[in-house]
Amino acid sequence: MNHINKIEHLGIAVKDIDAANDLYEKLLGVAPYKQEEVASESVITSFFKVGESKIELLASTDEAGPIGKFIAKKGEGIHHIAFDVDDIEKELERLEKEGFQLINKVPKSGADNKLVAFIHPKSTNGVLIELCQEKK
Ligand code: ZN
Repeated sequence: MNHINKIEHLGIAVKDIDAANDLYEKLLGVAPYKQEEVASESVITSFFKVGESKIELLASTDEAGPIGKFIAKKGEGIHHIAFDVDDIEKELERLEKEGFQLINKVPKSGADNKLVAFIHPKSTNGVLIELCQEKK
């Protein structure tokens, strides 16, 4: 079993989900295949699929939410890289032992039918890392 299978998607923080959907549809030549609100994160997401790659757009529904804070601090742009894993709990345990700082020690329910957990950018050269595992 691999630790990390592949990059599952790139997450991009945007201010206006409708405007960004139109822009990325123009850029990629495909419409988003899914739009979904994750209320626990105060975020609306939309997903594009290009070949084997996915792009996730994230817009905040609340300035005090994680994406709202990110945009206030850094502006729009790449927010995280998500890696696909087979066994998210095992990977979290492994990465914690390796000294990575976990934001979520227990995976939570994310967008696009995934279990997700984040690793703090302080421990990954400034890049927020998401692990995700397809829900069975
Ligand atoms: Zn993501």
